[in-house]
Amino acid sequence: MAQTLSPPARYLRDLIRCPSVTPNEGGALSYLEDKLGTLGFHVERVTFSDHDTPDVENLYARLGNGAPHVMFAGHTDVVPVGDTDSWSSDPFAGEVRNGFMYGRGAVDMKGGIACFLSAVEAFLSRHDFSGSISFLITGDEEGPSVNGTDKLLKWAAEKGETWDAAIVGEPSNPEAVGDVIKSGRRGSLSGRVTVHGIQGHSAYPHLADNPVRGMVDLLDALLAEPFDQGTEQFQPTNLEVTSVDVGNPATNVIPAEAVAGFNVRFNDTWDGESMKSEIIRRFEAGSVAARIRTGKKEPVRFSVEWIGRVSPVFLTRDDMLIETLSEAIAGVTGSRPQLTTGGGTSDARFIKDYCPVVEFGLVGQTMHQVNECTSLDDLDCLASIYGSFLERYFAVS
Ligand SMILES: [Zn+2]
Repeated sequence: MAQTLSPPARYLRDLIRCPSVTPNEGGALSYLEDKLGTLGFHVERVTFSDHDTPDVENLYARLGNGAPHVMFAGHTDVVPVGDTDSWSSDPFAGEVRNGFMYGRGAVDMKGGIACFLSAVEAFLSRHDFSGSISFLITGDEEGPSVNGTDKLLKWAAEKGETWDAAIVGEPSNPEAVGDVIKSGRRGSLSGRVTVHGIQGHSAYPHLADNPVRGMVDLLDALLAEPFDQGTEQFQPTNLEVTSVDVGNPATNVIPAEAVAGFNVRFNDTWDGESMKSEIIRRFEAGSVAARIRTGKKEPVRFSVEWIGRVSPVFLTRDDMLIETLSEAIAGVTGSRPQLTTGGGTSDARFIKDYCPVVEFGLVGQTMHQVNECTSLDDLDCLASIYGSFLERYFAVS
């Protein structure tokens, strides 16, 4: 039996039917270009290229010239479906069963885009407003994220675009739409420590220097104390040792080197430099403690290599954005959201350099899974919240 779908559900089904697995556009951006163009947006399609990574199409659309200027950011690309036979229905059909719509991208995050599109459409049909709304949509979030939001922001900023606030429509809610607003993210830093010893026969240890002992002392010092107790907005900083490697197949040879990898997720007590200094300080303390304990003259010899770039911690403290969105949520669901900073990365990490940004979208439980789905009620709820946010932010009635 054909079911009448509400506008956000209809738009989501249309988007799910575009097979836009990264880096394929799949018709999803053309669909948005058409819809937004009809609403009066000035739409631009931009393709970015880089070495060793596929070209990716992106979309930027703006309506209005005045202030304030609200950006909605998201991605139309989706992760692969995996084994199609494991799905109960075609992952690119958008089938509705028992009040849920199924399909790849239903929550991550074509659903968020469909809801914002529907909210804007309803808003424009009811109000004249003097501000601006833009959609910044990439096709490269789930892939390398090289030819996506980062470049699109730079491209738009070079044309003179500025924004007052941004909402990223990622599936940020753990249980129900309106539970949380994600208002920041912990920093991330990865490194590798190498302990340098002297190779030798395990029966003649006085002629060798076993780096495994030194590694135990260094890691013990690294993990002995918590880095902090957490802050008002962030959970405690956490470091995980992710590998310990000697690569020694022989049991009667003392190896020359031992290597350990680690990743630390840090809160706003630290920045990249102070975090690095603290880690080195702990290794040095461990190296000296070992010297005292073993009576050796030399401390443990070690070196540290940092891997990749430090991803900085950020926290959005914009009352206008957070308060307005919180009030919109409370108005629709009856309760105010919590502010959180947990979990992994999103394109908000790029947007934060341009304007205050939060993440708020559907419930994330089924993202990247087989039978990814959203309830139809959630779509209506999120579209209502976005709509109420627009009315409050632009102070129209
Ligand atoms: Zn996503």
